[in-house]
Amino acid sequence: MAASIATLIFYSTSRKNHFMAKIFCIANQKGGVGKTTTTVNLAAGLAQIGQRVLMVDLDPQGNATMGSGVDKRQLALSVYDVLLESASVAEARVRSESCGYDVLGANRELTGADIELVTLERREKRLKQALAAVDQDYDFVLVDCPPSLSMLTLNGLCAAHGVVVPMQCEYFALEGVTDLLNTITQVHANMNRDLQIIGLLRVMFDPRTTLQREVSDQLKSHFGDKVFSTVIPRNVRLAEAPSYGLPGVIFDPASKGAQAFIAFAREMVERIQ
Ligand code: ADP
Ligand code: MG
Repeated sequence: MAASIATLIFYSTSRKNHFMAKIFCIANQKGGVGKTTTTVNLAAGLAQIGQRVLMVDLDPQGNATMGSGVDKRQLALSVYDVLLESASVAEARVRSESCGYDVLGANRELTGADIELVTLERREKRLKQALAAVDQDYDFVLVDCPPSLSMLTLNGLCAAHGVVVPMQCEYFALEGVTDLLNTITQVHANMNRDLQIIGLLRVMFDPRTTLQREVSDQLKSHFGDKVFSTVIPRNVRLAEAPSYGLPGVIFDPASKGAQAFIAFAREMVERIQ
């Protein structure tokens, strides 16, 4: 399995289509590692540098929806309706004026989708098919995945061109992502040949901690340039921003965390060109 992961990591697509939105999942099966923070701040950062962005919330907790200034309790239509094909993305998306990107929101209704989808046909391709209809509207589609390797995450991975994996530089960091990397390898082999690992993003980083520096070095020696050069520091402004319904990038643009996410947005644009 190690060999196939390596193959996937160094696999790079030669089929570039400049008229298609790039679809990226932000995934890690652990909770609280910074997926949602990465999704909303990358979305806001990309929007600020002129990219047209759709943020898709695939987590029933709806944190990315709320963190983009969209009240999940007020959603007339959500990603749930899109997955069950009772609404199109064009009907269900809403504009976040404060953030500068579109939101396909989620709320607790989505909890049921995992079970409801199991009995349906094309169950893992629902999101992919729905997004195809709005392909021309965006440069980037970012999908915030739930902390599990569920049918919801599978829909994200089947729709995506790439995966961004936020991780904290702590003990067992490598072990923690092995399941995810194995799942990505299997989805790549059996369901979505376009899927690549775009990169591992070091988040909540504290450079004063020896252990974190060591793990960071290990990550780089193990995964090479699949580790993004941008590092997201631990920064309280990033943690405060969601309670104002804003990504840190907009809540406090001068903060270290916001600056790091703007740098990360630029790195993403460069990396996929
Ligand atoms: P996940 O989506 O993986 O569950 P979150 O993005 O919700 O993780 O982050 C978990 C918690 O950590 C949240 O309270 C968030 O505000 C906080 N957090 C995330 N990134 C940072 C950071 N770089 N600095 C400080 N706090 C952070
Ligand atoms: Mg989350």
